[in-house]
Amino acid sequence: MTAPDSKLPIAYTRPSITDLEVEYATDAARNGWGPRCYDYIHRFEEGFASHLGVSRAIATSSCTGAMHLGLSALGIDAGDEVILADTNWIATAAPIVHLGATPVLVDILPDTWCIDPALAEAAITPRTKAIIATHLYGSMCDMHALLAIGERHGIAIIEDAAEAIGSAWGDKRAGAMGTFGTFSFHGTKTVTTGEGGMFVTHDAALAAKVDQLANHGRDPNEPRQFFPTVTGYKFKIANVQAAIGCAQVERIDELIAGKRRIMARYQALLGDLDGMSLNAEPEGSTNGFWMPTAVFSPETGITRERLMEAFRAEAIDARVFFWPLSSLPMFPDNPGNVNAYDVPGRAINLPSYHDMSEDDQARVAGVIPKLRNR
Ligand SMILES: *Cc1c(COP(=O)(O)O)cnc(C)c1O
Repeated sequence: MTAPDSKLPIAYTRPSITDLEVEYATDAARNGWGPRCYDYIHRFEEGFASHLGVSRAIATSSCTGAMHLGLSALGIDAGDEVILADTNWIATAAPIVHLGATPVLVDILPDTWCIDPALAEAAITPRTKAIIATHLYGSMCDMHALLAIGERHGIAIIEDAAEAIGSAWGDKRAGAMGTFGTFSFHGTKTVTTGEGGMFVTHDAALAAKVDQLANHGRDPNEPRQFFPTVTGYKFKIANVQAAIGCAQVERIDELIAGKRRIMARYQALLGDLDGMSLNAEPEGSTNGFWMPTAVFSPETGITRERLMEAFRAEAIDARVFFWPLSSLPMFPDNPGNVNAYDVPGRAINLPSYHDMSEDDQARVAGVIPKLRNR
């Protein structure tokens, strides 16, 4: 056994920051005040909208904030229901709860780990206002099926694309297909501003509502100062953060290529192992591969606990697959969501920062064969 302290720790993610981010952030800190305090924010929004192919992008303090604004702008309210996958980060469900609505948690598909469209449709009631499609770890939800369901039932299809920068369904980018989409620029995501998010939509009226709600309910056409006309929120981004975002958007193709290169190397290192699957990339879709994830078949006997122990012993910061939301104390248990309960117990997220070396990836991959046939 190698002593853990004989090896440098391997982080699971970290941002890719170059002189360009430092230059823009420095300029924002020196000059981005007064009449110029929105310059980088507007440039960031325009750059991101153009990358995505949407008509409006509104920068926010987080993806959670963007989701809260979008749901609120759709009028989602007490008594309403919003359907989402049980496998999700809490950020997607919390805004539903805060608006007084009920998250309805349905099972995932076993291969993409994304919401099962048939179960989502079966869960629709007269109270259902929306389905949220979270593109888990970069894998695309079945947007063809979900958009058809939305149309059939007259409900909104929302995309949580926090993990799906670089992912696409045909020629449409993740986040650009639903009623609205949300993105995260948290420090662990493919594009980062430290903390930050984006609301995107093709719907000008919805964007106007979000503009107002994000800025304390102030109507841009209201002539009186300090005169909000609805009770809104404060979910804006800062110019300095947006400056970092502008540099990241200029580098977005390179950042996505880095994630895809890392996944390709894991596929080469691990792809031949029996009883293990990595993130899916269904026919006709592109996966931005935000978070390489390995899932082991039950026959291998490899569990989350054994994986965590083995990676910890090698000073590698691997992370657990999301717990089902319905297993958390604040939601009713729903073990009938078989895949959402089953997959996390035999899965692990692998380190994947953009400039990860081949040696470090080989070190990570080398842990896995040792766990087999013990
Ligand atoms: C990271 C993440 C969020 C939350 O993003 P914040 O910017 O931290 O609010 C939401 N949904 C998913 C799927 C995420 O991975």
